[in-house]
Amino acid sequence: MKKTVYLDNNATTKIDEKVFEKMLPYLKENYANPSSMYDSAHVCANAIEEARKQVADFLGVENEKSVIFTSCGTESANTAIKGVVFQYGDKENKNHIITTQVEHPCVLSVYENLEKKGYKSTYVSVDENGEINIDNLLSKITPNTILLSVMHANNETGAVYPVYEIAKRAKEINKNIKVFVDGVQAAGKIPIELENSEIDFYSISGHKFHAPKGVGALYVKKGVLFEPFMLGGHQEYSLRAGTQNTPYIVGMGKAAQLAKESLEYELKEVKRLRDKLEKGILSQLRNAKLNSKSSNRVPNTTNIGFEYIEGELILLYLNDLGICASSGSACTSGSLDPSHVLRAQKVPFTSLHGAIRFSLSRFTTEEEIDYAIEKVPEVIKKLAKISPFQSELNALGL
Ligand SMILES: *Cc1c(COP(=O)(O)O)cnc(C)c1O
Repeated sequence: MKKTVYLDNNATTKIDEKVFEKMLPYLKENYANPSSMYDSAHVCANAIEEARKQVADFLGVENEKSVIFTSCGTESANTAIKGVVFQYGDKENKNHIITTQVEHPCVLSVYENLEKKGYKSTYVSVDENGEINIDNLLSKITPNTILLSVMHANNETGAVYPVYEIAKRAKEINKNIKVFVDGVQAAGKIPIELENSEIDFYSISGHKFHAPKGVGALYVKKGVLFEPFMLGGHQEYSLRAGTQNTPYIVGMGKAAQLAKESLEYELKEVKRLRDKLEKGILSQLRNAKLNSKSSNRVPNTTNIGFEYIEGELILLYLNDLGICASSGSACTSGSLDPSHVLRAQKVPFTSLHGAIRFSLSRFTTEEEIDYAIEKVPEVIKKLAKISPFQSELNALGL
């Protein structure tokens, strides 16, 4: 059987065996509607409340009622952004919303959609290291600004943004601003402490931290109102209608507990393996340039640009060797446009098209990293021979 070395954990992760085991009874015998009025339903409702506590604990939140369950990270982001705009905004006056150029499409597309409907948006840039200039961001705030969205960690480069400080300082300028943080790529990789922060909304997605796809959560700060996205029954404190997906919510609760317990391992061992991979590749190839240059980044991600080589070709060759990685984000691949994140970072076009993201998890092994350190440079050298940029590559000794 072909070997698989899965280094695409920012696209999705495998379900932890313990998560799967915990879910099984709720896929089989415990199938009652958690809103019903008999014992078997209470079993499900109680399991959901246990998961809510686990997720709240994971997010550093004291009152678990601040957590509502959704179907995914995308739904959580849509809920927060549209929920704020429709609650507090109007097209004539309170119509300004701010975000960054490097957000996930689940934020950027919503902003673009709201622009078409008459709202005004500002997209702040990042520097060559992928870092946000906080003063520049804060200078965009006006009395009409109602929402600021900044991701906690970037899915393509792993850059971590100072969201607590941004939220605090934004409210010193305009106390009515609501702050949404897309925390999908931070969950399980760095500590999250929302309790005493000025963050109003924070999203996570189960499948990015070893729960199944199709379940997410949204933290909503106590007392902060928003217009619900899904209307219907009274589930989730009437903030998100629809019968709860008990098995998946239970799975995400368990995954949150495990992620919290594994955080130390993630920050130490996963980082060690990521650094080993990064150094191993960069030291062997003179056309390899690090795109993950932020001084603060999550421990599992590296993005490397291979000058004068086409990223899609690299992925095809790596696939033949069983190595799963990604160019750009999974959500935009399929289009040949280079990554909006790396373009915002002004990565030169010579390495923009050959950018590859490797993302590890707590299940990544030393052997897998050694294999990748051996194979990736072989692939790049092979592709260098058929690249149309022979003289440039020769000048680099390839
Ligand atoms: C994957 C991802 C999302 C979307 O989460 P889904 O659960 O797949 O909808 C949102 N934001 C970031 C940063 C992501 O990496």
